Amino acid sequence: MKMHNFSAGPCILPQSVLEKASDAVKDFNGSGLSLIEISHRSKPFVDVMENARELSLEHLGLQNQGYKALFLQGGASLEFLMVAYNLLEKKAGYLNTGTWADKAIKEAKLFGDVDVVASSKESNFNYIPKDYTIPSGLDYFHCTSNNTIFGTQMNHFPETDCPLVCDMSSDIFSRVLDFSKFDLIYAGAQKNMGPAGTTLIVVKEDILGKVSRHIPSMLDYKEHISKDSMFNTPAVFPVYVSMLTLEWLKELGGVAKIEEINNKKAALLYTEIDRNPLFKGFVTNKEDRSKMNATFNLTNDAHAEFFNLALKENGINGLNGHRSVGGYRASMYNGLFIESVQVLVDIMQDLEKKG
Ligand SMILES: *Cc1c(COP(=O)(O)O)cnc(C)c1O
Repeated sequence: MKMHNFSAGPCILPQSVLEKASDAVKDFNGSGLSLIEISHRSKPFVDVMENARELSLEHLGLQNQGYKALFLQGGASLEFLMVAYNLLEKKAGYLNTGTWADKAIKEAKLFGDVDVVASSKESNFNYIPKDYTIPSGLDYFHCTSNNTIFGTQMNHFPETDCPLVCDMSSDIFSRVLDFSKFDLIYAGAQKNMGPAGTTLIVVKEDILGKVSRHIPSMLDYKEHISKDSMFNTPAVFPVYVSMLTLEWLKELGGVAKIEEINNKKAALLYTEIDRNPLFKGFVTNKEDRSKMNATFNLTNDAHAEFFNLALKENGINGLNGHRSVGGYRASMYNGLFIESVQVLVDIMQDLEKKG
């Protein structure tokens, strides 16, 4: 039986993508060779890389506007420091919305001054700070669009007079935004795009080359751009699967279409969390709730055993909350069908009837 996969990451991918990916591992486009045993410099793979980069820009509406897309390695975690390495000369501003932002701040401090302009740490990051002023003259301002762990999501992005950098690991390609507001976007593939092992970076080229330090080649965005994201051997399989997911999304109708579906999934689950007296959402401010990761608790732990058993019996996978939040977390990435959310909601209603 195929499970209902609510895993936070690595996460669910469309079934058709998994099938095409496994075919390509055995025989890539009828070539008699596996995708993972051909040269990354060969035409068939160079086409894959180019297609993946192009589709990324297309889905974000950022073609022909001075942006470049890269597929690098090291995860979003390497971007925490690469961003600072490439952009931080004196001082950067950060919005602290939880674990990932915290880690990004820690790395940036190795390279210059960091001004944490606002934080929701005092309430275990259960909301998105909104009343803050960004000082002028920063090298860049960094934020995290969706906090995967606490289940918060930004709906408004600040106006800045400096480059705007955003970690979009867990909600990239899930909703329409004015992406041209951002100068650098990064996202680890394994939340909403592909397998672990590659990170998408979309960067406006003209913000680069302004720091005085020497940047090692592997950490230098300019170097990767000049080599068309092939400075060294890229993560061929994760890049290929990411490309398949981006093609799948295009066939489906693009980011606007998936946003409609994601909105329906989130509304279905949050309505039940709010309605059902046995459950309580973790994020109190409704407008800050993430449509990708819904965090919630049982109001009475006595129901946990029965609820957990029902989840298991109905093939629900990956619903445990992160250790720093506890409770439950339902990750509803692009690949998850609304039918799976309905199965979860039915279990919640069943628990209420029996409870
Ligand atoms: C998962 C995650 C990361 C870390 O990604 P890695 O690829 O494991 O380094 C960073 N930021 C956000 C928002 C995430 O969800």
